[in-house]
Amino acid sequence: MSKNTHSFQAEVAQLLHLVTHSLYSNKEIFLRELISNASDACDKLRFEALDNAALYEDAPNVEVRVAFDKKARTLSITDNGIGLSQQEAIDHLGTIAKSGTREFMSRLSGDQKADAQLIGQFGVGFYSGFIVADRIVVESRRAGLPADQGVRWSSTGTGDFEVETITREKRGTSVILHLREDADEFLNGWKLKQVIGKYSDHISLPILMEKEEWKEGEDDKGGEMVATGEWEPVNKASALWTRAKKDVSEEQYVEFYKSISHDYDAPLAWSHNRVEGSTEYTQLLYIPAKAPVDLWNRDHKGGLKLYVKRVFIMDEAEALLPSYLRFVKGVIDSADLPLNVSRELLQESRDVKAIRDGSTKRVLSMLEDLAKKAAAAAAPAESPAADGVTDVVDKKEGEPTDADAAKASEDAGKYAKFYAEFGSVLKEGLGEDFANRDRIAKLLRFASTTSDAATVSLADYKARMKDGQEAIYYITADTLAAAKNSPQLEVFKKKGIEVLLMTDRVDEWALSYLTEFDGTPLQSVAKGAVDLGKLQDETEKKAAEEAAEAFKPVLEKLKASLKDKAEDVRVTTRLVDSPACLVVQEHGMSTQLARMLKQAGQKAPEVKPVLEVNAEHPLVKKLERDEAHFDDLANILFDQALLAEGGLPEDPAAYVRRVNALLV
Ligand code: ADP
Repeated sequence: MSKNTHSFQAEVAQLLHLVTHSLYSNKEIFLRELISNASDACDKLRFEALDNAALYEDAPNVEVRVAFDKKARTLSITDNGIGLSQQEAIDHLGTIAKSGTREFMSRLSGDQKADAQLIGQFGVGFYSGFIVADRIVVESRRAGLPADQGVRWSSTGTGDFEVETITREKRGTSVILHLREDADEFLNGWKLKQVIGKYSDHISLPILMEKEEWKEGEDDKGGEMVATGEWEPVNKASALWTRAKKDVSEEQYVEFYKSISHDYDAPLAWSHNRVEGSTEYTQLLYIPAKAPVDLWNRDHKGGLKLYVKRVFIMDEAEALLPSYLRFVKGVIDSADLPLNVSRELLQESRDVKAIRDGSTKRVLSMLEDLAKKAAAAAAPAESPAADGVTDVVDKKEGEPTDADAAKASEDAGKYAKFYAEFGSVLKEGLGEDFANRDRIAKLLRFASTTSDAATVSLADYKARMKDGQEAIYYITADTLAAAKNSPQLEVFKKKGIEVLLMTDRVDEWALSYLTEFDGTPLQSVAKGAVDLGKLQDETEKKAAEEAAEAFKPVLEKLKASLKDKAEDVRVTTRLVDSPACLVVQEHGMSTQLARMLKQAGQKAPEVKPVLEVNAEHPLVKKLERDEAHFDDLANILFDQALLAEGGLPEDPAAYVRRVNALLV
């Protein structure tokens, strides 16, 4: 093949522009990304070689070499991993295969700081080289292919790249960066070692650099460091999760997270354990601080990497955690699974089931821990002498310091952060993970009539329930404002009963799996007739019954007028200021969910709601007197109830006509 020019996929060109313009403030991350790619390539070789040892050719030890040339102003990262064929170089280095790319691009705002954050989350990988290089040359040969089928890929990071055939004896890939004017700092062995130590110490294969020696200059010209031709490892080269906890610093845990997740932000929490028992494995699980752009993509799989006895097996191993925990990142290293395990096999393996159960429990307890810290910070500080024991010893050690206080307040905010990003995903667990439903329910937080922020737990709610209250009440709506102002809440407001306000799209569905919490039923205020039970006193009940009796004839007429629209019409005590509202039968689908399904283009069963009317309301009383307008009034009553809950009258023009007729 002679030299061929190819154009980058449009998204790549756009991304490249952003990379060079936005990631400027954190230049050095390119080295982490390229070393991580090199390490992945070595992992892939080891994996393919399980079935085909010949791929190792004559070099069974995989490694990465980092070298620089001051005169040529180049920096190269060379691995002897799986390598790239010509077609792979064109495909992998000219397009972005990741799911969610388009969505990611659409989220970019043009504000450099915000965009840099987004790009960080997305993971620019290979293209980060263009932060420091104005030209990148990649020379590679795929393991197993003959030497004359090597490839040279080169680009200046603008619209296109060139590809040509070369001869390359050694398998694997060299990425050669032609550094920009202002990237001199990376032509320095000490600096490179420092960056590698910071970002890549946990990489499990050796990263080698040439040893340097100080050489005095001639004639007092000053000296310089010169390469000796001897290579030495510059990282620890032991996979981070295989080390003992005490040998891993907080910073190293964070850096490891960043390298596997391509996230800019530190994780909220992590948990590192060696699990022994019927199946043996190591888990290192992280809870990110930010949701990735493609979390809601159908093909978003999961964030765990699977290793078997330190050999990389696969990314995004979705069998290792249930789907509602797909935001968790990390590593599982199993001692028991066979090395040739496939995705299909994973689904059936008993070891995998044990790993999945164990990891699920671990994640839930991490979340419980964050929630506990938040609750502790919200509660008034307990005095140490509260238990009656006065500590008279002047105790310096263990006394909280300013740093402790800062940490505590940071910890306190973590659960809210987590919940804002992943709360909706967690709720899916109610329908997905029956075994842990109670634990998940305890982790949920909602807005309520006492709190606009989603901070109320079901346990908080229960603790505040009125004497005689027999259910946890909630309402679902499209927005917080619609929920708060719903006529269905009127009697609850009047009686000072708290109602949870649910505005998340998944709430309706998720809550259908949670019929009770800690022995108390959950009850939608928009479903079935309100029965406030013991909260209503006898005189109120009696008055209501009498009113209903007196209203009966009107009711029958209303039913006849609205028979095409309403399943039933009845008198209610749930309304105070509004004339009417719509509810659905106890086990019916809510009108809100039906509307959502319709919007999503799905078939929803035709639900006819029940119209409930407030017999005390002047508009309703007018029905009794105004025979001439009865039909118009009845329809207005129905359509207004629909409007009040965010719906639209079936025939808006007719509604307007009727109202106007009454107005004039
Ligand atoms: P990612 O690594 O997240 O997939 P990159 O942009 O970093 O994205 O890399 C794109 C692809 O290019 C990789 O998935 C891999 O197939 C290939 N690649 C990159 N670096 C190497 C390398 N050193 N050896 C072999 N393949 C590589």
